[in-house]
Amino acid sequence: MNIILMGPPGAGKGTQADLIKANYPIPHISTGDMFRDAVSNGTEMGIEAKKYMDSGRLVPDEVTIGIVQDRLNAQDCNQGFLLDGFPRTVKQAEALDQVLAQLGKRVEAAINIDVPEDILVERMTGRISCKDCKTVYHLKFNAPAKEGVCDKCGGELVQRSDDQGETVKKRLEVYAEQTNPLIEYYQKQGNFYGIDGNRSSQEVFKDIEKVMGSL
Ligand code: ADP
Ligand code: AMP
Repeated sequence: MNIILMGPPGAGKGTQADLIKANYPIPHISTGDMFRDAVSNGTEMGIEAKKYMDSGRLVPDEVTIGIVQDRLNAQDCNQGFLLDGFPRTVKQAEALDQVLAQLGKRVEAAINIDVPEDILVERMTGRISCKDCKTVYHLKFNAPAKEGVCDKCGGELVQRSDDQGETVKKRLEVYAEQTNPLIEYYQKQGNFYGIDGNRSSQEVFKDIEKVMGSL
């Protein structure tokens, strides 16, 4: 199954990806996680990417397309993949189609999680995640049993530096301008599935399962 999870920042893509991963044997490929790993490892690419991430802008297409292309060529993508946060521009979507065509594959479902903007702000500003296993929580909607500690691995829970103030606003603007056009891109391809993300995670997941079951 070759799936992409789309939607504005804070829509619940990572949360749904965790639920999907637990039920389907396909790798979860999050470009945001890949960039954050590069930042914490202090690689050259990470140092460059951080400038864009901290200001709420997108990392340039050339860099992003390159890392996804390498990742999709890995053995574990043979049975399919779950892309989260990629593509985010029409140029990335076109590049993805090309890369997949070379591998004899295509995007089977572009699942878009739709959430109103005021809720997105609340979700992003309350998001905390585990430094070690990356599990995502929310201070109000999905709080850990013990404050600041990951339920799953005991790791420290931290807030993302881009989940604050002006950066949140900028990310929503960038989404509207550069990523929202992808809805039309996939509608034209006939593989677009829109899902109301303003419900509980379990309700959203049920709809995603319906889509995946229909493929
Ligand atoms: P994305 O990957 O799209 O940026 P996340 O999955 O990280 O979004 O979710 C953003 C925040 O919203 C997290 O704190 C998460 O716990 C919370 N969240 C995700 N889905 C829901 C939901 N259906 N209802 C309430 N809060 C949610
Ligand atoms: P995310 O974790 O998906 O919210 O991504 C965090 C940040 O990483 C974004 O605000 C961008 O700066 C960068 N990023 C992640 N995915 C992409 C992408 N597909 N294209 C460009 N930048 C990206």
